[in-house]
Amino acid sequence: MVDADQTFVIVGGGLAGAKAAETLRSEGFTGRVILICDERDHPYERPPLSKGYLLGKEERDSVFVHEPAWYAQNDIELHLGQTVDAIDRAAKTVRFGEDGTVVRYDKLLLATGAEPRRLDIPGTDLAGVHHLRRLSHAERLKHVLAALGRDNGHIVIAGGGWIGLEVAAAAREYGAEVTVVEPSPTPLHGVLGPELGALFAELHREHGVRFHFGARLTEIVGQDGMVLAARTDDGEEHPAHDVLAAIGAAPRTALAEAAGLEIADRAYGGGVRVDERLRTSDPDIFAAGDVASFPHALFDTRVRVEHWANALNGGPAAARAMLGQDVTYDRVPYFFSDQYDLGMEYSGWAPPGTYDQVVIRGDAGKREFIAFWMKGNRVLAGMNVNVWDVTDPIQRLIRTKAEVDTEALADPHVPLDTLGG
Ligand SMILES: Cc1cc2nc3c(=O)[nH]c(=O)nc-3n(C[C@H](O)[C@H](O)[C@H](O)COP(=O)(O)OP(=O)(O)OC[C@H]3O[C@@H](n4cnc5c(N)ncnc54)[C@H](O)[C@@H]3O)c2cc1C
Repeated sequence: MVDADQTFVIVGGGLAGAKAAETLRSEGFTGRVILICDERDHPYERPPLSKGYLLGKEERDSVFVHEPAWYAQNDIELHLGQTVDAIDRAAKTVRFGEDGTVVRYDKLLLATGAEPRRLDIPGTDLAGVHHLRRLSHAERLKHVLAALGRDNGHIVIAGGGWIGLEVAAAAREYGAEVTVVEPSPTPLHGVLGPELGALFAELHREHGVRFHFGARLTEIVGQDGMVLAARTDDGEEHPAHDVLAAIGAAPRTALAEAAGLEIADRAYGGGVRVDERLRTSDPDIFAAGDVASFPHALFDTRVRVEHWANALNGGPAAARAMLGQDVTYDRVPYFFSDQYDLGMEYSGWAPPGTYDQVVIRGDAGKREFIAFWMKGNRVLAGMNVNVWDVTDPIQRLIRTKAEVDTEALADPHVPLDTLGG
């Protein structure tokens, strides 16, 4: 039983932190809930920043997790624009803000998320070099893309991952010229592997995106503070007015590290090491969302999942664990993306090296299909492209680890929910 005079502190006001605060209240916690975030905006969701909001199709107000008034109504003490810079585990306190305010916690949640990786090359200080993580970045990029579209300008995007490709799609919709530079032989190589990566390359080429695979940026060339071109390690020079660095994100672990909490091995994506209850190496400190590395029983490995659904579900799971409830966090990883008229959802975990074949069900040419990543006859992951309402049966196949006949799996006439026993 948790006492009403307890204080639970949440560091990080992204989706995981905001949802954890909501869950503490919906589960009946009547103690103090303190939510501290270094951003000035109320907690918001990031997926629209590279899609509807970037395209000007979604309003700014639509991205927030809760209305601003919700926090006071639910007695959440919200401190925006304040950085937590120290945790004292012995005293059970955190320190935050310019005046070094110290608060005591009974339980602490680290929901500090991730930050964009920076290009470590000459020229990144030029005005036309961008990153995309925050609402303010998206606001700026939206204006940049609109101006490039008007003036027939050119953006070079370093990185053919989800964010790079979504911005490429948005840039083309604005009418900008786009070159994506990616060291792998296909976009999305590290998540989908070469088979499905090629399909995304084709989609973008049809929309006028140029790819430069097998290369990295080595320099951003500028004049008078403005970007002129981007150079790659094979000696090519791509004309550019702007450059987006979309080369992935790193978990924000500095605070946890300084506090002596265990950090997961880089081979597992780094992050704050937690158990299946999302508890760190300190039993009173929990971590959730992009920053947390948790053991996933289904895949028999430790994973750090940088996706919306993991923040949406992980924040609440951590909140329940903080309340002493019996929690095992074992959701099937899930994410989605929209690019042009292609919408997709992916469930599971099957990076290259973990699967031995990809089974396609439906018409990949028409981009209406489900792809299954298989290990033997078991489904590790499934991605539905422009096919909807199939997440439950796909996740059931992954979760049950059932043996599936691959011919039946490939046949759209065999209902998915009849497969795998
Ligand atoms: C542009 C973009 C598009 C995306 N699109 C998709 C998508 O289509 N589908 C999908 O599944 N996922 C998508 N994602 C990923 C998804 O948004 C993240 O997985 C999710 O935001 C993680 O939430 P979080 O709460 O763990 O971390 P975050 O959202 O990163 O929030 C953490 C917060 O904590 C703050 N913070 C960190 N350290 C401190 C500190 N010491 N003191 C105070 N505050 C601190 C940070 O500034 C931040 O505000 C996208 C991400 C981006 C950036």
